[in-house]
Amino acid sequence: MVKSDSYSIIEKRLAENVLILDGAMGTMIQSYKLEEQDYRGERFADWNSDLKGNNDLLSLTQPKIIKDIYTSYLAAGADIIETNTFNANYISMLDYHMEDLSYELNFESARLAREAADEFTQQNPDKPRFVAGAVGPTSRTCTISPDVNDPGFRNVHFDELVAAYTTAVDGLIKGGVDIILIETIFDTLNAKAAIYAVLDYFEKTGVRYPIMISGTITDASGRTLSGQTTEAFWNSISHAKPISVGLNCALGPKELRQYVEELSRIADTHVSAHPNAGLPNAFGEYDESPEEMLEEIQGWVDSGFLNIIGGCCGTSPEHIATFAKAFADATPRVIPVIEKACRLSGLEPFNIDGNSLFVNVGERTNVTGTRRCLNVLLKKGILIPRWMWHVNKWKTVPKSSTSTWTKACWIRRLPWSVFLSLSHQNQIFLAYLSCLILRNGRF
Ligand SMILES: [Zn+2]
Repeated sequence: MVKSDSYSIIEKRLAENVLILDGAMGTMIQSYKLEEQDYRGERFADWNSDLKGNNDLLSLTQPKIIKDIYTSYLAAGADIIETNTFNANYISMLDYHMEDLSYELNFESARLAREAADEFTQQNPDKPRFVAGAVGPTSRTCTISPDVNDPGFRNVHFDELVAAYTTAVDGLIKGGVDIILIETIFDTLNAKAAIYAVLDYFEKTGVRYPIMISGTITDASGRTLSGQTTEAFWNSISHAKPISVGLNCALGPKELRQYVEELSRIADTHVSAHPNAGLPNAFGEYDESPEEMLEEIQGWVDSGFLNIIGGCCGTSPEHIATFAKAFADATPRVIPVIEKACRLSGLEPFNIDGNSLFVNVGERTNVTGTRRCLNVLLKKGILIPRWMWHVNKWKTVPKSSTSTWTKACWIRRLPWSVFLSLSHQNQIFLAYLSCLILRNGRF
């Protein structure tokens, strides 16, 4: 797989500077005070549902406004601008019956941003500008039931999200983005669907683009909406090898600080943050001035927490200009060397390193109780049906192959031989099997 054209330029810029991401799109659109007919434009004049509030649609019906917003952030000094595509996915667009426009919305929004960014790069080639294709969480969550009376109910499933994200990413990349930014992640499972779609897309096209990932800590508990702590979140998504990981939205800089610090300590990639302009007031507005935000964020930069800084809800080109000016010569965070370990997570992180004692994790990999898990393991070749490999006891495994096929065993109640390659991740599964075997009195 080859790297995209601008990949190495972005890496070089990240090594030199704290890069500036843009600010809010929604708040800027609000300032234009657009009405229903502005959203509709000519093309959707007769559309059969209300369109006011469908900000992503404005890339088609009011392209000048969207490009002006991009331009105002570039003029403020943003190195990276985000496309107006936060909700331009099949799932979110269902609310407006515009799901079939997903590709076009992403493509057009990316194309406009590309145009704006290229104009600024041409004026000053020493400060290349990049376009990040914004991939939002969608309007539905894969982890949590929307029905309090039915905890098992889901109104969206992983495969549907993957399909929706694939279309969005296709539009963004063909529209000319440099980066894919999976952001405002309140449900890690939604983000994992996005990551899956993106990595699969890279594999099929043979070109890898940088991925930025940004989670959202929803309140003072320090957890995402689906319940994860910062480190658990990082453990869940680090396999995507993002060019940056960060936090955005929900909290203002003061409340976000400790979580950015935590991420900076544990992440062996660049760290980004784009906080809101404080917490919302009684009217749902954001009051923190550029100077107030800077006061807090200056400390983050001075402490070496950051590689990329921008703004989320309530921030404006003035906020971004203030950051760009303040951090023009700031030293970016140095990526720490993190000790290799098996890093897992549920709601909390679970790290297994050289000092860990016996670890027993089982129920989610319980092949005896979960037909679905069993099928996945069979498909991936982790479990091999007995007819494929006639080994009844682990000691019959050829010595020469013990490095990869370290253990093989046959479970009394199952018609399979089980082979485990002892990669680090599999140790926990092995631990579970050991328990099962001990309990059954086998060997
Ligand atoms: Zn926000």
